[in-house]
Amino acid sequence: MKLYEFQAKEVLRKFDIKTPKGVMVESLEEIDEKIKDLDSHLYVVKAQVHTGGRGKAGGVKVTKNKGEIKELASKILGMKIKEHTVKKLYIEEGVNIENEIYISFLFNREEGRHGFICSNEGGMEIEEVAKKWPEKVLKMSVDPVAGFKPFHGREILSYLPYEMPVLKKLYAFANSLYRAYMESDAELLEINPLVITKEGDVIACDAKMVVNDNAVFRHKDIAAYMDRAAMDPLELEAKDADLSYVRLDGNIGCLVNGAGLAMATMDVIKNFGGDPANFLDIGGGAKADLVEKALGIIVQDKNVKAILINIFGGIVRTDEVAKGLFAAKEKFGIDLPVVIRLVGTNEEEARKMLSDHGFTAVSEMNEAIKEVIKIAG
Ligand code: GDP
Ligand code: MN
Repeated sequence: MKLYEFQAKEVLRKFDIKTPKGVMVESLEEIDEKIKDLDSHLYVVKAQVHTGGRGKAGGVKVTKNKGEIKELASKILGMKIKEHTVKKLYIEEGVNIENEIYISFLFNREEGRHGFICSNEGGMEIEEVAKKWPEKVLKMSVDPVAGFKPFHGREILSYLPYEMPVLKKLYAFANSLYRAYMESDAELLEINPLVITKEGDVIACDAKMVVNDNAVFRHKDIAAYMDRAAMDPLELEAKDADLSYVRLDGNIGCLVNGAGLAMATMDVIKNFGGDPANFLDIGGGAKADLVEKALGIIVQDKNVKAILINIFGGIVRTDEVAKGLFAAKEKFGIDLPVVIRLVGTNEEEARKMLSDHGFTAVSEMNEAIKEVIKIAG
């Protein structure tokens, strides 16, 4: 789950990390009231979107004049940044930048450890820095059991060219950032830039945070950050029904039981030249009502030209899948072609029910997939 910058900064403050004072607004009308408490020689107006590169896209603007904030806000609100329409702004007190540092913790799946990246060339994209000057990027990893140790901190300090008072603050910052990352179950926590101010302060001026979806339930404060309005409505409906569903851009709607079979189904469809409209795993012991809900989600996707039901009935009873299909047909009046492959528990019964309702089911997966690709065109 991606957090907005203003939410990530709220999390950081709980771990005693310094961030600029700011307010989030969703309309021009509320700006005057909300910025009353901001008092600085500089103000920053920032688009809040679940994507990077806002600065380049014109989504971050700085002004010395408090009276100009509204005008800047009117330019950014409603602007499009990589397919994301800006509906929220964060207005902050500006800081006097002496230097910008990049620092992040993130999952390193290959090593099974927490990766750690740091560079004194903050403010720009780290991929660019790494390409141009690989020697300017420090990469390390942290054993998740042992945690972030003093030697990690010292490695960072020996790498960054600052004097003692600032180094002390950087050391404390790195430790706090690791704690914020771990205790929030984040899979990415990136500060770019971490600003060293002219006054010698260390302040997180930008924050990008992604929390492991499977751990969000452990954090009520973070769960409350979910922006339902910014989510795909079909993915949201699936989430509420406890279905694993990911929308893709093909035309074959897929209903499959088990993540492994669902992935294999995508592969085989692609292999035979087709294009899946979605990944959908109805799970291990799905009953008719869940199958009905799943089909209800698939038929709302306007790209779907044909539906493939691929069931290997172990714990899932295939007759329950058939019942779900009939219920969905009744409820949503499905008029798309449906190709069914089903084998396993209660197969005989399911086949009989299906043929009574005018459906046929094959038992061979490749055969069903070739057929559905032909129909979907
Ligand atoms: P991003 O482009 O989405 O990464 O947005 P950032 O929040 O990182 O802001 C981009 C740039 O705006 C920063 O690297 C700074 O150069 C500048 N900026 C942001 N906040 C301030 C500030 O308080 N003072 C000044 N002078 N510049 C700022
Ligand atoms: Mn940034």
